[in-house]
Amino acid sequence: MKKVVQRSIQILFLALFVVLAVVGKIQIWMGIFVLSALASLVFSRFYCGWLCPINTVLKPVTWAKNTLHIKSFKVPNSLKKPWVRVFMLLLFLGVLGFTIKTGKKLPVLPISVALGFTLTLFFPEELWHRYLCPYGTILSLPSRKAAFRMKIDQSTCISCGKCMKVCPSVAITKEGKKYTITKNDCLVCRSCAEACPVDAITYHK
Ligand code: SF4
Ligand code: SF4
Repeated sequence: MKKVVQRSIQILFLALFVVLAVVGKIQIWMGIFVLSALASLVFSRFYCGWLCPINTVLKPVTWAKNTLHIKSFKVPNSLKKPWVRVFMLLLFLGVLGFTIKTGKKLPVLPISVALGFTLTLFFPEELWHRYLCPYGTILSLPSRKAAFRMKIDQSTCISCGKCMKVCPSVAITKEGKKYTITKNDCLVCRSCAEACPVDAITYHK
């Protein structure tokens, strides 16, 4: 039931994004993003898992790849370096600043969607979510302080590792038999909670 609600919300916001892009009012989406960034101070990166049009279009790509057993390339180590994230963020802010200053309408958001989609045809989603997405990098900062987050109940967990395998953001780490979720890398997408056989993962304070 939760999954149906989540998918419905994602499709609704994707439709809103497309409409805003078509009618040339994409700046309204930036307002949604700014409000979401403020809310992530309390609720973590729910924008990524529930509202983000990029994440929503990546889901069918991953589903098709899994269904057709199409293997992804490994994410190159060179793209995992922190400077890559910083570069993407500065590039994004630079282009955004340019559009605001000059009044020229550059389709930053639609280009981001197309880039995330194209890369995910060849690489796992983590490349975009974890290492390249400038929106994710911005949201990862306030979400460090968030009270509400995805959390593993260690007393219930049976250390099967299923959550780690499905996480699209490599936000789950293992130390010995203990699995933990890194709050600022987590998209609040709930894939781990759906995969967990003992319902050990919930979103709470
Ligand atoms: S930890 Fe769970 S909710 Fe967070 S990104 Fe990974 S699968 Fe999604
Ligand atoms: S899927 Fe559930 S039981 Fe398995 S390691 Fe993750 S939290 Fe623990």
